[in-house]
Amino acid sequence: MPAKIWKDEEVSLDPIREEVIAVIGYGSQGRAQALNMKDSGLKVVVGLRKGSKSWGLAEKEGVRVLTVGEAVKEATIVHILIPDMVQSKVYKDEIEPNLKEGMALSFAHGAAIHWGWIEPPAEVDVIMVAPKGPGPLVRELYLEGFGVPSLVAVEQDYTKRAWDRVLGMAKAIGSTRPGVIKTTFKEEVETDWFGEQVDLCGGVTSMIKAAFETLVDAGYQPEVAYFECLHELKLIVDLIHRKGLSGMYEAVSETAKYGGLTRGDRVIGPASRAAMKAILKEIQSGKFAREWIEAYEKEGKESFEKYIRELKEHQIEKVGERLRKLMWRD
Ligand code: NAD
Ligand code: MG
Repeated sequence: MPAKIWKDEEVSLDPIREEVIAVIGYGSQGRAQALNMKDSGLKVVVGLRKGSKSWGLAEKEGVRVLTVGEAVKEATIVHILIPDMVQSKVYKDEIEPNLKEGMALSFAHGAAIHWGWIEPPAEVDVIMVAPKGPGPLVRELYLEGFGVPSLVAVEQDYTKRAWDRVLGMAKAIGSTRPGVIKTTFKEEVETDWFGEQVDLCGGVTSMIKAAFETLVDAGYQPEVAYFECLHELKLIVDLIHRKGLSGMYEAVSETAKYGGLTRGDRVIGPASRAAMKAILKEIQSGKFAREWIEAYEKEGKESFEKYIRELKEHQIEKVGERLRKLMWRD
């Protein structure tokens, strides 16, 4: 069965006009979603830590800011947009004590609920609006009269209004204009993590590095290898994004068509597919979630920053720094 997709004309804001939405956090998603919902006419208050750097910015941009606990006290929907790894503590300390029957706990990612980092009481709704794009784009496309598509889910429907609430919020941030897709918390987390590990962040950087190293090791100039293996990827991905995989092939040379179509599956062959399956299993079983929590508890952000430092030392980064200066001025 094809996935359920809601469009703008099928969704009304009316059922949530009287709700007070406490957006917790004013970072990438928090800022974009709070401003979009406010501009859509909803009642929005932002909850932040005392002394948070974002406090002044949020006030300057015209939203009311309170501490997290105070914001939750005023709210009927609590939209939690702080980093996933701090959600459990902030929930315990400041959100849970202020929850009342019939409120909704809302998320932009399914992890905290799916893995049990947060265990909400039975008498609230638990919903998710997960935009399929970074916060700044959520804001930018909204201002252009469009939006970023979102996934929506309901984990707990105490009030029997959970779908009205989640769809109303999705409309208010602009997502029903392109469309909103129905999912579950489990599907959202597992596919989101799989995508970023195998394809979007992990897979693509490893592919770029490996292709670059293969050329440089064979004696080609790193600058030329950089253009081939990294720079041009954007042009190709833009084509795929607009026209699909076969649409991209229509736009490249005949040699690129024949070469790409007969060689691609050798690069991502049985070994890579087996690795993808193993990585998916680690996600589904909770092994990755446990490893990530343990790493974060032990080392905090250092658990990934050490790898970023290592990456910065890679030759492709040094070459890239020099070449990007020639191409972009910012
Ligand atoms: P972010 O790191 O950009 O923003 C964090 C905000 O939380 C900041 O305002 C920060 O001051 C505040 N904060 C941090 N620690 C806090 C604490 N202990 N108490 C109170 N406030 C605290 O986060 P983000 O990328 O916007 O992610 C928020 C949620 O959105 C996450 O669940 C994430 O998975 C989800 N999401 C993000 C994206 C994305 O592209 N960034 C896309 C879809 C979903
Ligand atoms: Mg994602």
